[in-house]
Amino acid sequence: MRDMMQRYRRFMAIGILASSRVLAADVLLQDVRVYDGGGGAPYRADVRIQGTRIAQVGPHLAPRAGEQVRAEHGLALAPGFIDMHSHGDRGLLQDLNAATIARQGVTTILVGQDGDSQYPLAEYFASLQRTPAAINVASMVGQATLREQVMGKDLYRASTPAELEKMQALLARELSAGAFGLSTGLEYEASHFSSTEEVVGLSQVAAATGGFYISHVRDEADRVFDSYDEILRIGREAHIPVEITHIKLGSTGVWHQAATRMPKYFATARAEHIDLTADVYPYTYWHSTIRVTIPERDYFNPARVAKAIGDNGGPEAIRLVRYTPEPALAGQTLGQIARGWGVTPVEAFMKIVRATEAEIEPGADAMEEIVAASISEDDLRWFIAQPEIMFCSDGELHGAHPRGAGTFPRILGRYVREEKVLPLPLAIRKMTALPAQRLGLADRGRIAGGYVADLVLFDPATVLDRATIEQPQAAPVGIPEVMVSGEWVIQAGEPTGTHPGQVLRRSESGR
Ligand SMILES: [Zn+2]
Ligand SMILES: [Zn+2]
Repeated sequence: MRDMMQRYRRFMAIGILASSRVLAADVLLQDVRVYDGGGGAPYRADVRIQGTRIAQVGPHLAPRAGEQVRAEHGLALAPGFIDMHSHGDRGLLQDLNAATIARQGVTTILVGQDGDSQYPLAEYFASLQRTPAAINVASMVGQATLREQVMGKDLYRASTPAELEKMQALLARELSAGAFGLSTGLEYEASHFSSTEEVVGLSQVAAATGGFYISHVRDEADRVFDSYDEILRIGREAHIPVEITHIKLGSTGVWHQAATRMPKYFATARAEHIDLTADVYPYTYWHSTIRVTIPERDYFNPARVAKAIGDNGGPEAIRLVRYTPEPALAGQTLGQIARGWGVTPVEAFMKIVRATEAEIEPGADAMEEIVAASISEDDLRWFIAQPEIMFCSDGELHGAHPRGAGTFPRILGRYVREEKVLPLPLAIRKMTALPAQRLGLADRGRIAGGYVADLVLFDPATVLDRATIEQPQAAPVGIPEVMVSGEWVIQAGEPTGTHPGQVLRRSESGR
């Protein structure tokens, strides 16, 4: 019943919006090569879109009066891509075209990641419905957000039973706004001191509503395998599907072990009926704060700092991309900064942490950000090739890491076409039907009659990312048109200014 009311409300919201602008014409796409999301071989067809949905898919559909007819000459057509870990909610209301996201063919982003979500979600969703974006938005509930609401700034400790109870109540309220489950960022300061029991206690609340658990795990470096044991335990004890987000073997000490050690975790999960999955971004370097390299806050222990620098590729592989105390240093490596200051890289690291310590507020933007080596190419390829591992950008609308503008075309161009790490139909499935299934989105992620017309037209022969560290927002090539709910949001590679994006809410019957 509640679900029906939600659907009705959503329908009403769309109705009101539609009346304030010209209604989308029905569209007939002639001669497309359909990658339908199922993972099978593509096929030639015509596709008819009526209103917000795909009406017909078939070999030669006759044009109808009033229809926009487009000859696509064999261009590939796929369901719109779903980004399983995005920070695109930040600043979205000020950048409704979301061009860096939509240009990649992404039509839905899952936000509220790393333990950090908009609060309260109902309010955020209401503003997005009043002022829709070009893309659809779905959200998780962040555990650190709950901790901050209940524990204030006193976060470097485990919660008490009374605090956990308060967090559970808040979580239940946030989930009822339509969130898809719980996210954690256990490597970050605000959550690192939570016990596994706290996370299980919260996950049980998310499980009760059919939600899932997604985690930036407690340690992505030397103790990454302990982190995978922990996420399996959370799945087992909370009876909740679990997802390792932006999966990586993130320090030199654990590099080159994906093929030998990862299958065990997926096999254990299968044997114990734990629904384990993961998502990955296609870059060997990450973007975060320098602090996450030392999760225990032991920032002024020279031996720990030296190891953290080494684990992340050394001082020349760690690049400061944001530093508010001295903005001009952005772009320099830790090695360059150390030389400039006349200190060792270890001392430079400590100075950066000390200079930004006072300005770090829970939930506030970090005042320092780095890009550093995270994963070896062989491990990355192993993750990209796995049929059950989905994709994420972990990107921001205007971030310093090129993943925010390049992730999906990079997979299609570099890893599918150039390097042949996986076949195109499988890559498309991992970008569409698989995440739709994870989210319980019954009418998205496939090309078939009745599905929502979130679609991307691309050229498999030319699609490629162009974003780099120097130009992180550069547009990709080979993705000319993107449609959301039957309306073009990208044409000839540029935003149309149309904003048909919806707030997607977890359907209680969807799982
Ligand atoms: Zn993360
Ligand atoms: Zn993230």
